[in-house]
Amino acid sequence: MQLLEDRIRKDGKIREHGSVLKVDSFLNHQIDVDLCNEMGKEFFRLFGGEGITKILTIEASGIGIACIVAQCFGVPVLFAKKSKTKNIDGSVYTSQVHSFTHGTDYEVMVAKEFLSPNDRVLLVDDFLANGAAIQGLMDIVHQSGADLVGAGICIEKAFQPGGDLLRQSGLRVESLARIAAMSEDGITFC
Ligand code: 5GP
Repeated sequence: MQLLEDRIRKDGKIREHGSVLKVDSFLNHQIDVDLCNEMGKEFFRLFGGEGITKILTIEASGIGIACIVAQCFGVPVLFAKKSKTKNIDGSVYTSQVHSFTHGTDYEVMVAKEFLSPNDRVLLVDDFLANGAAIQGLMDIVHQSGADLVGAGICIEKAFQPGGDLLRQSGLRVESLARIAAMSEDGITFC
């Protein structure tokens, strides 16, 4: 998506010797709602015919864009919460996720009452790197018996393996900007 690529080129900041892209000025801290609306429309163009009933994302950085995507589809947004307490009453689906940005493992959970076999789910996230966040969400959808339609990603770092792994597993992954390479000298899109 040209608009997003242009914005990444203009305002994205490359960190950690080319492995991390900071987009705090328009997506991850301050949010450009007009840009998010355009991304929401693009996801709707790609997945609008799929009978989606729910958008599922992960706390916290996916929530903003997922809300706007959900509005474009006219369905609720559900976000997997990072849980600190053990699930003892069986009322939640849980999965383990390895955090790319923090380097630690954490558990995410979704209350069973909000996801059922009648749902058709689109996963949405801001970034795709190694694919752990999306895999955790896939695991939760599978536990619920809902249909998983695909994943809508704003920025895929295609030089990391997540996108290929997920596509090879049969998931439809649509990324609005795919970065082939990045370094302090600049960014190349696929
Ligand atoms: P994955 O689970 O695919 O390895 O990483 C995806 C998650 O890590 C996203 O939810 C996002 O929050 C975070 N992430 C991964 N790479 C980046 C990056 O380069 N920049 C930012 N801001 N977040 C990232």
